[in-house]
Amino acid sequence: MIRYALACDKGHVIESWFQNSGAYDTQVKAALITCPICNSAKVEKTLMAPGVVGAKKRAGAPPASPRPAADTADTATPVAMMSPQEQEFRKKLKELRDHLTKNADYVGQKFPEEARKMHYGDIEHRSIYGEATPDQANELHEEGIEFHPLPVLPDERN
Ligand SMILES: [Zn+2]
Repeated sequence: MIRYALACDKGHVIESWFQNSGAYDTQVKAALITCPICNSAKVEKTLMAPGVVGAKKRAGAPPASPRPAADTADTATPVAMMSPQEQEFRKKLKELRDHLTKNADYVGQKFPEEARKMHYGDIEHRSIYGEATPDQANELHEEGIEFHPLPVLPDERN
């Protein structure tokens, strides 16, 4: 997942997550991205905003970095004061999360086990979500099993 700061033709800055830069190009070309403030479909990438929402590494590291140098699991929890734009971004994140969780089975800590079974064809493929430790996530990545971190909302952290 990659986060871009986008700006509409009226200068509103919004933020959005994309699978990769190609996904961004496709969605912009199809005018799938609109400004949440004025509804303009004329949005384009602007400079990356500083990361204040710690929305990663709950269900594993992003595919692009299988071995994160620093893990925040047992250090201080990141906190942020959120601007209206961030609030909007957070809402979008929640929608994405709700969509994911509605359309997938919750398997809890059996996630690595279930993901592995599917990968090796022991059980049928389906959408699942659950928990994996950073170590388990790394193991899955090393076995070539694809999965993605579930967006985590700041106030849902442990
Ligand atoms: Zn706008």
